[in-house]
Amino acid sequence: MEMTDYIYFDNAATTALDPLVKDAMTPFMTFNYANASGTYHDASLARSAINKARAQAAALIGAEPDEIIFTSCGTESDNLALYGTAMAHFSRDKRFNAVSDTIEHPAVYNTLDALKKAGFIKLARVSPDKDGFITPGAVEEAVHSQVKTKRDDASGQTKDNGIISVMSANNEIGAINDIAGIGSVAAEYGYLFHTDAVQSFGHVLLDVDVMGVDMLSASAHKLGGPKGIGLLYLRRGTKIVPTMYGGGQEHGLRSGTENVAGIVGFGEACRLAGIRMSADTRYIHELRDRLVSRILNEIPDTILTGPQLPDMGDKRLPGHCSFAFKGVQGSSLVIGLDIRNICASTGAACSAAANRPSRVLKEIGVAADHFNGSLRLTLSRNNTIEEVDRTVDAVKACVTQLREMFGDD
Ligand code: PLP
Repeated sequence: MEMTDYIYFDNAATTALDPLVKDAMTPFMTFNYANASGTYHDASLARSAINKARAQAAALIGAEPDEIIFTSCGTESDNLALYGTAMAHFSRDKRFNAVSDTIEHPAVYNTLDALKKAGFIKLARVSPDKDGFITPGAVEEAVHSQVKTKRDDASGQTKDNGIISVMSANNEIGAINDIAGIGSVAAEYGYLFHTDAVQSFGHVLLDVDVMGVDMLSASAHKLGGPKGIGLLYLRRGTKIVPTMYGGGQEHGLRSGTENVAGIVGFGEACRLAGIRMSADTRYIHELRDRLVSRILNEIPDTILTGPQLPDMGDKRLPGHCSFAFKGVQGSSLVIGLDIRNICASTGAACSAAANRPSRVLKEIGVAADHFNGSLRLTLSRNNTIEEVDRTVDAVKACVTQLREMFGDD
């Protein structure tokens, strides 16, 4: 099967490898296969290519190159941030405080559960509001219940009271959080601040200093880069220990021979994202807005889950559309679209695989009769208006057919 025969509307799950990224990677998958730790000429070329990619990734988020740790994926970055800091702050008589929320990706959610179970952290989770935002006010309430008082030095220099982990944008409903607001809370209460930015990195402007984050996770395959390469931004001076030991690569925090081609591809994807972001956003917003308004206007008993358009258009990931259709099974809808050569999902790829109901939709209070009818269509710069129109027509046909087959009225 050729993916090119398909309309691909599942860009939150993964993106196509950008041809320029592939070109940048090719030398390191073919003639230059040197281990970057070597001392010969080709090894030094590989080392330089890694350094260049580190600078490209750092530039995209206003960081310094030595604050970028390459990992194997976003999941690993989340695990390193959370395990690494929890273990670094471990003491036998006091558990490290942690505040997160109920709609994190499993890479954060399940990691925090494991840390809690192992006795490393004392965990509080806040709920989203009805649009799917985790507000600074809700986070502050949870932090306050753990430590009661603000730090006198609100400079955020001493961050040993605990850790906050709140995602930059939600993968199922596209809500972009006020990360800078939460960063201020973290600084005021002496908490470290980690954000999972896997969905927003390369798609919306992120600046680690403006946001006040100490750690930020990202993954190349969500922005036209290859799979199998992620990064953790780690602010200088953050107290953390490695979760993998070995040869001491990546400042001793992520041992293992570097994935040179993957790192180079990630760097190039970052460079391209920096150049293209504003034009791409404008274009993708146009597609998104048309898709959402046509679906809501033409298919009755349908809701857009997460931030509403047009009012909250900037608080929703640019290409992210998520719906819930009354009286329809989202999984049947995805099959119906697949038969029509359209790639879509019910929500997160991982929960779809496990066939579990969505924790996120439950948390934002989606009505019971819409709850199972979720459909996520996520667009990219590679999509067109014609594809939007063909997809809306296909969704309409599938929903009508499913309601006729299974509806009770
Ligand atoms: N965090 C979020 C918000 C995600 O959407 C994903 C992947 O979908 C991940 C983490 C995991 O990233 P990776 O697939 O690189 O492990």
